[in-house]
Amino acid sequence: MIRKDDSPPASLLDLRREFGTRLLSWYNVHRRDLPWRLSCDPYRVWLSEIMLQQTRVAAVIEHYHEFLRRFPSVQKLARAREASVLAAWSGLGYYRRARMLHAAAKVIVREHGGEFPSTAAALRELPGVGRYTAAAIASIAFGESVAVVDGNVERVLQRMSGERLPGESLWEVASDLLDQKRPGDFNQAMMELGATVCTPRAPACLTCPVVEMCATRGELAGSATGVRQRKREINYVLDCQNGRVFLVQRARDASLMAGMWELPEVANRNGVSNPLFTLRHSITVTDYTVRVIQGQPDGAKNGRWISKSRVTNLALTGLARKILRAAGII
Ligand code: SF4
Repeated sequence: MIRKDDSPPASLLDLRREFGTRLLSWYNVHRRDLPWRLSCDPYRVWLSEIMLQQTRVAAVIEHYHEFLRRFPSVQKLARAREASVLAAWSGLGYYRRARMLHAAAKVIVREHGGEFPSTAAALRELPGVGRYTAAAIASIAFGESVAVVDGNVERVLQRMSGERLPGESLWEVASDLLDQKRPGDFNQAMMELGATVCTPRAPACLTCPVVEMCATRGELAGSATGVRQRKREINYVLDCQNGRVFLVQRARDASLMAGMWELPEVANRNGVSNPLFTLRHSITVTDYTVRVIQGQPDGAKNGRWISKSRVTNLALTGLARKILRAAGII
């Protein structure tokens, strides 16, 4: 029974069937048309799940098709050079994900004959595949009855139940609610509800398909702690001559974006009073003001002249790509 008006909320688990029916009916109609939802092919599901970790949907859409064009199968990905994989990943950030993706593709080809493992437990053995990702692939691509918990699902469950459920309890409640016939759709519907309706600061409870079953109806809105953005300034030199641009490669053992290519940074800020252009760039909790000056780099190590036509073949950092686009070079 769905509670009416101000009667006390029944336990969420008592209402699981009604909850699942409403959620899935809503999802059938309102789900976003995302490219990775056109297929249950495990390679495509896996790729989208790895790309979506800590990256906005809009940014993933931009890269998803191009990545698939370059590496249409797990076999092609396994055979690729790491530099090519990183180049295709360029702009998505968190490059460790691309390296893990590449390593996992090799394991799938070498140890599984090119076939994806079909259970969450087996998928978790792959490099870069954690509990959430394994459950997402297993339920969406193989229909395994295994629930997912990500930030969106966590928020929906906390608000629906009116309780601050600790870690393992969230997974248990999500498993208890899971629709056994459509586990993949149910998991995607929970995440979709959190991403589009039950949003962190302003949940749209009036349009929520499960509002009658919700213990809080938005009372916990805005409780997510906001992270204060830091501000930083950074300066780069753009040096173009004879159809080539001078770029430097980050050290192979650098802790961030190892081996990626970027513009030389200006160590001495004194000559930066008259930049060619300025742009803004955000990485996690830091907002950068980026000034680009025209000139010659001062003692840049690991630098090389790269023909403009070859620049996009390199594994560029996201910021380097942005600067080169703004400068009309790519
Ligand atoms: S009613 Fe509001 S708070 Fe409750 S799940 Fe729906 S959107 Fe979230």
